[in-house]
Amino acid sequence: MTSNEALFERAQRSIPGGVNSPVRAFRSVGGTPRFVARAQGPYFWDAEGVRYIDYIGSWGPMILGHVHPEVLEAVQRVLADGFSFGAPTEAEIEIAEEIRKLVPSIDQVRLVSSGTEATMSALRLARGFTKRERIVKFEGCYHGHADSLLVKAGSGLLTFGNPTSAGVPPDIAKHTSVLEYNKTEALETAFAAFGDEIAAVIVEPVAGNMNLVRGNPDFLQALRRLCTHHGAVLIFDEVMCGFRVALGGAQALYGIEPDLTCLGKVIGGGMPAAAFGGRRDIMAHLAPEGAVYQAGTLSGNPIAVAAGLKTLQLIQAPGFYERLGEQTAKLASGLAVVARAAGVTFSADAVGGMFGIYFTDEVPASFADVSRSDIPCFNAFFHKMLDAGVYFAPSAYEAGFVSIAHDDAVIDATLDAARSAFAALA
Ligand code: PLP
Repeated sequence: MTSNEALFERAQRSIPGGVNSPVRAFRSVGGTPRFVARAQGPYFWDAEGVRYIDYIGSWGPMILGHVHPEVLEAVQRVLADGFSFGAPTEAEIEIAEEIRKLVPSIDQVRLVSSGTEATMSALRLARGFTKRERIVKFEGCYHGHADSLLVKAGSGLLTFGNPTSAGVPPDIAKHTSVLEYNKTEALETAFAAFGDEIAAVIVEPVAGNMNLVRGNPDFLQALRRLCTHHGAVLIFDEVMCGFRVALGGAQALYGIEPDLTCLGKVIGGGMPAAAFGGRRDIMAHLAPEGAVYQAGTLSGNPIAVAAGLKTLQLIQAPGFYERLGEQTAKLASGLAVVARAAGVTFSADAVGGMFGIYFTDEVPASFADVSRSDIPCFNAFFHKMLDAGVYFAPSAYEAGFVSIAHDDAVIDATLDAARSAFAALA
């Protein structure tokens, strides 16, 4: 059996940082990443054979738990028929119809292979449709790693956005304005100043990339109203919260229809599938009919579509979201009770199958609030839980995910581990 440490050392020789996506490297919490050997239901096992209760679920997709037998069967059924064709299939129509049924604001949808592709394509489409260049995003929301989205605010509302990554040209970043999440006044000021230049506003209606932060209903309503008034395209990035906070996503929860929606994670059931879709008059601008180019060799891949379609069918089981929501709320409220009993400053929140744990007095409403977390305390808690066989997100700025396979016994085992961890922190 190879140790995680030996694998990490070996990985770093061939892979930058030893990982294929930065958060996996445990940089903010320190220590050695766990190399996963296999997974089942709510658990995974690392290369040393140690079992963990998994609260990241591949960062959201594994809503049914790992290796759900019906998803496995659906994938196995199509494998022998071919891995990829680069020509259309009937299954692509089926998944598109299923997505339209579940998310009624989507008249037409195009499949891509990652959330990054979905947001990048939605923005290009919005720019092509409006013939405008400026886009607006919010601090703490992550929309993948396309150049125009790796941007932070300039020093004032009317200044240009600045790149958050080396390699992003300032000339690209300057077309992105970054506003504070959940701050309606700032939004109104921005629209008053340059509303008629805005091609699109992109937002996570329930944010999961600055830990979990709920969109305020008034803020999201204002966003809808202002975009309509100024002819800007409202894009809900539901790559994470879609099919996660409710069957119809955050837009169903809030009763707000965006113009375009980005989806990912759950719609691939753990395989590389994502999508963007929305109003027919906007989608009509996409090639081959329209002038906005977008394409993909593996888009609509038959194996990803089979996993995604089966996942979308299974999450429609009666009572699925009630149960998922109950289990997630039980975890979040249970953690808060245990922390309070130990005298640790802590709060927690849950929406559907997503949760946030914060080392703050109150549940945060913005990136600035989350930034006030006691990071050393979070890091210590993370490692104590890891040592007890519970794998939370390895960063205080990430949300957590519960699957339908996280039953009472799993949640109770987590709370038992947390009781000891918090007691040791106090
Ligand atoms: N949008 C949101 C809200 C996300 O959470 C993510 C990834 O976590 C993305 C976009 C990018 O998706 P991907 O990692 O599949 O490119």
